[in-house]
Amino acid sequence: MTLKCSVLASGSTGNAVYVETKKQRLLIDAGLSGKKMEELLAKVDRTPRELDAILVSHEHSDHIKGVGILARKYNLPIYANEATWQAMEQSLGPIQSEQRFHLEPQTVTSFADLDVETFRVSHDAADPMFFTFHHEGRKLALATDMGYVSDQIKGTIHGAHTLIFEANHDMNMLRMGKYPWNVKRRILGDMGHVSNEDAGKALSDCISSHTQQVYLAHLSLDNNMKELARMTVSQVLEEKGFYSEGKPPLLDTDPYRPTELISV
Ligand SMILES: [Zn+2]
Ligand SMILES: [Zn+2]
Repeated sequence: MTLKCSVLASGSTGNAVYVETKKQRLLIDAGLSGKKMEELLAKVDRTPRELDAILVSHEHSDHIKGVGILARKYNLPIYANEATWQAMEQSLGPIQSEQRFHLEPQTVTSFADLDVETFRVSHDAADPMFFTFHHEGRKLALATDMGYVSDQIKGTIHGAHTLIFEANHDMNMLRMGKYPWNVKRRILGDMGHVSNEDAGKALSDCISSHTQQVYLAHLSLDNNMKELARMTVSQVLEEKGFYSEGKPPLLDTDPYRPTELISV
């Protein structure tokens, strides 16, 4: 098993996931400053120098803040779809044309010994997409920033050995919380983010006997708590018969600390 991953940081303060095989080292989004991204990679004994590319899911700042800086400093290629390129152009700063690459939704692209499949998600960005990674029969799925989890998405990520899946907010915390109504409506809407309960429901259609672990990701700082996310998701899964005695393990992600670099 040589497909490895670490969720370097996750949440509205910045997102980044590191994925590697023997021949390929990818950064998926870089939503913190360049310096922070260097520090996070160092915590899993990696450096941006070793990266082969940065893949960008969508142009929101919690996914691209460090992309331009890292790409310039370490001469890294950036992959994003056409609409995302247009939308993030200004925020990235100058990027050489030989560092610009296209990766369109609903495609499979080989990065050396790693196949990257992209799928569109429903979210309020230009053309947001997320990824599954395939290597030597192992499958890793990354799916956050979704207002709504379609059957097509469930089909694409179903049976992944490791899932990194959004559990953004607790419905009640969000409803009762301090956010203005228009922001609440955005988060709750079909173009917003997945609640803990909806994460549980969607995951019950994605987990299979192959699933080794599920990371709960992109937790809201104001409207969620790690323990609450785990509890709600596990309850829904348990009711549907997809979770018992701590299996599959539901693992935390953190806004400031990478998860262990694990084999998928
Ligand atoms: Zn986000
Ligand atoms: Zn977003």
